Amino acid sequence: MERDLLKILISTEDIQKKVKELGETISRDYQGQNLLVVGILKGSVIFMGDLIRAIKIPVQIDFMEVSSYGRSTESSGAVRILKDLESNIEGKNILIVEDIIDTGLTLSYLLDMLKARKPGSIRICTLLNKPSRRKASLKVDYDGYDIPDEFVVGYGLDYGELYRNLPFVGVLKPEIYARCGE
Ligand code: 5GP
Repeated sequence: MERDLLKILISTEDIQKKVKELGETISRDYQGQNLLVVGILKGSVIFMGDLIRAIKIPVQIDFMEVSSYGRSTESSGAVRILKDLESNIEGKNILIVEDIIDTGLTLSYLLDMLKARKPGSIRICTLLNKPSRRKASLKVDYDGYDIPDEFVVGYGLDYGELYRNLPFVGVLKPEIYARCGE
């Protein structure tokens, strides 16, 4: 798997440090309040698992899975819900956990949908952020890393459903994309 990589962008060590910092900040910000952490499947699973263990206040968790209509490396913004939340979020503090925000179209659509359910508050936490690619305006409350416009894999992020279990974030060799007919 690692042979398919052009380079490592963010090491396991750096990710661990960042997740710890994010967990501490979130714990401080929500001290004494209820918190429902919502992971967006599937890309957020690894980050979510590490992040909630770095949050030192009681939390509830839930998951949503959405698929955006569009090409494999760029979303269109129209979103289909594959798995909805199990919780009623009315009046609750919601923290959405994403692996990466690219154009922001998926999340902005999702936010509008969740806001209509009248949560007490709603914030966004992402490990990776590509601000240069933004098409929808979004306030990212907890941002791990701003990265350049490169397609990355690992630590939950896939290419063709592979590479999610790499323990770091990296960039694939161009021939891998060519091989998969990208
Ligand atoms: P957005 O709606 O912000 O453009 O798209 C967000 C989704 O696109 C992410 O949750 C992720 O599934 C996918 N995505 C965007 N950029 C990348 C990337 O660099 N690598 C991978 N693996 N997925 C990405």
